Amino acid sequence: MPPLPRSSSRRRFLRSAALGAGTALLPACATPMPSADAARARPRFPVSDHCDGRTFFNPRRHLDRSWFEVMKWKLTTRATPWPESVAVTPTVPAPLAPGETLAATWIGHATYLVQTAAGTVLTDPVFSDRASPVSFAGPRRVHAPGVAFADLPPVDVVLLTHDHYDHCDLDTLRRLATAHPKAVAVTLLNNAELFRDAGWTATRIVELDWWERHALDRPAGRLDITATPARHWSNRATGPRNGRLWGGFFVRAAGRTVHVVGDTAYDDTMFRDIRTRCGAPDLALVPIGAYEPRWFMAEQHCNPAEAVQIHRDLGARLSLAQHWGTFPLTDEGRDEPPRALAAARTAAGVPDATFRAPAPGERCAT
Ligand SMILES: [Zn+2]
Ligand SMILES: [Zn+2]
Repeated sequence: MPPLPRSSSRRRFLRSAALGAGTALLPACATPMPSADAARARPRFPVSDHCDGRTFFNPRRHLDRSWFEVMKWKLTTRATPWPESVAVTPTVPAPLAPGETLAATWIGHATYLVQTAAGTVLTDPVFSDRASPVSFAGPRRVHAPGVAFADLPPVDVVLLTHDHYDHCDLDTLRRLATAHPKAVAVTLLNNAELFRDAGWTATRIVELDWWERHALDRPAGRLDITATPARHWSNRATGPRNGRLWGGFFVRAAGRTVHVVGDTAYDDTMFRDIRTRCGAPDLALVPIGAYEPRWFMAEQHCNPAEAVQIHRDLGARLSLAQHWGTFPLTDEGRDEPPRALAAARTAAGVPDATFRAPAPGERCAT
């Protein structure tokens, strides 16, 4: 990492680092569409509409923010302050009751515990205090995890959507490796090394390209997982920018379906395409936060109005919000995403009960 700026600019730098943007303070690449040279180099991954064989990109249009734009954001905008802490009473998730076949509990940010009749799924698990490449600085959580780590039920599958620090926390992955020895990690291409770094053996890790499908037979049934596209990017302090694929997951479990959308900008064909290929999910976990300022964020994070459009494009029977309210990452205030979500639902005529923003620890059965 380059030397960190001081004081408030240092704090704001580390905010961007959680999103992977901090390491963008290196020579910028404006448009990493597949180059002829890269395509000719020995491919490590299948060449496709989102990979030149070594680097990943968004189909149709890919924009990486430049060093100048990162600095412009950091120097010209004023983030709405967040509370230092928000009181949360962690809950212990009840097992599925008779007649229940699907329940989701928001633990915080992009971390959900999803209970199905075929097994238990944990998404983008982050239980650490900070979403940051370093333990002593960077965005600090403002509320305790809605479920204490020790109270997690046995986890069958850990889904990792991408490598950004607010989704991929190596300390949490280390704890899961030993505390949940039967869990299998399912992630996108070239993210397996992160699990290996956290002590997961190779036999417990599955990497998927977009649209690839993997079935896991667990004692309670089969979890069938398809990797789905998202419009985003990847970066950590180590490794090449966009060298690890990002995306989401469509999970089929005992007749029920869950779409973990992952970090994404809005795309007017992508989510309709997912619906066509995978079907309309019973439950979608949709990001609603980290969207201001729009001139900078619109290419990587949807805002609540776009999240409602994603919900409609997917045809989700129920959507639950994620990616807000836990780590101060961008410029909007903590409570703004659910307020904007409510306004967007009204404007779109979407019933309140079909796209909710649960509180940390709240369990939603559907
Ligand atoms: Zn991200
Ligand atoms: Zn994120």
